[in-house]
Amino acid sequence: MKRHITSLLIHGNKEEKSAESNRSLKIPIYETASFDFETSEDMEKAFRGESNAFSYSRISNPTVNELQNRLQLFSGSAHSLCVSSGMAAISNVFLTLCSAGDNIITSRYLFGNTYSLFANTLSSFEIETRFTDLDNLSEIASHIDSNTRAIFLEVPTNPQLIIFDIEKIAALAQEKQIPLVIDNSILTPYAFHANEFCVDIEIFSNTKFISGGATSIGGAIQIYKSNKWQFIPKLKKEYDAFGQQAFFKRLYKEIYRNIGACLSPSSAWLQLLGLETIGVRIDRIEKNALTVAQFLENHPKVKQVSYLSLPSYKYFDRAQKYTNGHGGCLINLTLKDKKACFTMMDKLKMVRRGTNFCDNKSMIIHPASTIYWDYSANDKELMLINEGTLRLSVGLEHQDDIIEDLSRALQSI
Ligand SMILES: *Cc1c(COP(=O)(O)O)cnc(C)c1O
Repeated sequence: MKRHITSLLIHGNKEEKSAESNRSLKIPIYETASFDFETSEDMEKAFRGESNAFSYSRISNPTVNELQNRLQLFSGSAHSLCVSSGMAAISNVFLTLCSAGDNIITSRYLFGNTYSLFANTLSSFEIETRFTDLDNLSEIASHIDSNTRAIFLEVPTNPQLIIFDIEKIAALAQEKQIPLVIDNSILTPYAFHANEFCVDIEIFSNTKFISGGATSIGGAIQIYKSNKWQFIPKLKKEYDAFGQQAFFKRLYKEIYRNIGACLSPSSAWLQLLGLETIGVRIDRIEKNALTVAQFLENHPKVKQVSYLSLPSYKYFDRAQKYTNGHGGCLINLTLKDKKACFTMMDKLKMVRRGTNFCDNKSMIIHPASTIYWDYSANDKELMLINEGTLRLSVGLEHQDDIIEDLSRALQSI
């Protein structure tokens, strides 16, 4: 019988227990830069890629490998590669897909650094990003040309919490043979199953739910079976030699090693530990979050609330369809203005003022004055970053305590 994902994430694959030693029930932390070889022939083989022996931890490491194995089980991907952060995952992916003169299609609703990577960093290497309305299929199609290398989106977008019609976008990407790249950091495969929607590449920031409550920074790239690599000029040589493995081969053999953003074994160990409890943490956080969202929705000082599993939420039907009823930890609440937001935040005694989410601790941020502080009013409007909106990440505390803290702070405005 095929076990449930929560069991697989605790035990791993029987066949993949090679990293356990001395019958240790936790995977050891292999904190070493380099590995020894019995003979020079063995060493030659490892360098030629003819054996799986470890040589150097920027290339592979047993603790990191085990995390990759578990994430592969979690997502159902064909290949899994861990890196030092979510941003490193996104950078590695686009540097593997794109050359100067190529373009990427996405929306303006993006994690702050991802937006900046597209708008500032990749553009300086002549990789163009075409920002568009991903709910308008004819507009997406009008941006596609022979140099388009990917359609990219977040499920849901951070911080706007928009869920696009992924099925329709995936169908267009199939028709036009463009790789579909999805950032599933917020929900993880526990809620959104990328392999059911023709996604070619999936990215996580392990820093969020996977790390087990914000213990460490990390990222991962999941690569699914795909025939689209043959249409990417940069992957032509790899496609002729390796077929469906073309993207992974180019990424792993070249880009990943040259960029050098490898995950540290200690962080991988924390993230392996995080995976063991991810199901119970998400279930409990979502129970808390729905109760908190309902409380906020009925509060006279709160103008608007967005939460994926709140029936009044604009994208509720899409959330039900794509995230299997899961809502995640993020709630957006809109107050009168920025001043009301700051007054309310400063009165909080338990909920922390901080920039992360999926932490065990509840946490709040005013995105307009922090993550997006140096964007113009016009840009913020285009990105739907509202001066009166707070992003709340609901944690694992008792729901009564979270509501008591929010309730008292809202009374102050
Ligand atoms: C946090 C986050 C990232 C970046 O991850 P880091 O681990 O901080 O580099 C990328 N995308 C989304 C949607 C995120 O929430």
